[in-house]
Amino acid sequence: SGDEAIRLCRDVHFDCILIDYRLPDICGTKLMSELEVHDSVASPMIILTAIGNEEIAMEAVHMGAADYIPKHMVSEKSLHRAISNAVERTRLRRAIITRTRALEAANEQLHRKNDQIRRFYHTVSHEIKTPLTAAREFVSLVADGIMGDLNDEQKRSLNYALESCDLIATHFNDLIECTRLDTGKLRLDRQIIDVRHAIDQSVTMMRGSLEAKNIVLDLDVPNELPRIEADASRIVQVLSNLLSNAIKFTDSGGKIGVSASVAPKRPDYLEIAVIDTGIGIAPNDLPRIFERLYQAEQGETYSSNGGLGLGLSIAKDIIALHGGELEVESTPGKGSTFRLVLPLAAG
Ligand code: ADP
Repeated sequence: SGDEAIRLCRDVHFDCILIDYRLPDICGTKLMSELEVHDSVASPMIILTAIGNEEIAMEAVHMGAADYIPKHMVSEKSLHRAISNAVERTRLRRAIITRTRALEAANEQLHRKNDQIRRFYHTVSHEIKTPLTAAREFVSLVADGIMGDLNDEQKRSLNYALESCDLIATHFNDLIECTRLDTGKLRLDRQIIDVRHAIDQSVTMMRGSLEAKNIVLDLDVPNELPRIEADASRIVQVLSNLLSNAIKFTDSGGKIGVSASVAPKRPDYLEIAVIDTGIGIAPNDLPRIFERLYQAEQGETYSSNGGLGLGLSIAKDIIALHGGELEVESTPGKGSTFRLVLPLAAG
């Protein structure tokens, strides 16, 4: 009877429960719900039905029965098969649930750790910037001769110290940018901008490095370009980064081109390309260079290029925030082309 079953199941755990649909005191499906332990995976239940009771059988399965067997088909073989299948399925479901819970817990822990790391480097970056700025100020005062005359060697050493301070500041700024991007705190000040002006500004910032490496710059930027709505300082930041990489990975005497036009295959977008005749990027590295901290193996000369491998990932995220895309094509030994597209302003 149903009563007896409920009493038994209170004290004993069964691997599988067989329930006759027609019991003297209760119907099989009702008993099923009474027996359902509030465990996520209770013991599997198999319903035994009378001839022609397909509908009831389907209802039982719908309610969570592991299987049903019409009574006239009960045999040693059919019972054996139904019970082993039900027990095995339950074992697998339990294993999946345990595994899923473990994965969820591990995932949550990773999220927490990730947050801690992010907070850690954000705080450290901020804390270091203030003393670094002070150190740079003092070195700069001495280097400018304000605290007394210097000989050439002293000047060279102090200039080296200033360059190092600037490099550290750039790295910390990049780390802070990454946290801002990750936490959605990087806000764009979007306005209709003059793209030509943004390109000129980035090129001007790179003039010194271009001249130092005797690299020829070829500008193909028409006076009149369609308008885009963007954060001018962010576009200058991205272009300077692309230009600085192009210079870094191009040998002396090489060439760099910058062009801007309506994107040939996407008339609603403006395309800016930075093309170099540098060392290029191996096909294996190509899909990974936009990853954070990724730097391609590029031989002795370029191994310590003073970068952290953050620039391109920041650039790609900034362009994506503008609704655009940043892509690369490259042939090792021949050069690379970085192409960014930005949506044209409406109207
Ligand atoms: P990094 O600070 O190392 O330059 P980036 O994120 O700007 O970091 O670039 C990631 C890597 O992509 C570089 O270390 C370099 O291996 C490769 N790379 C980027 N730009 C170029 C380029 N113009 N030519 C060749 N390799 C490049």
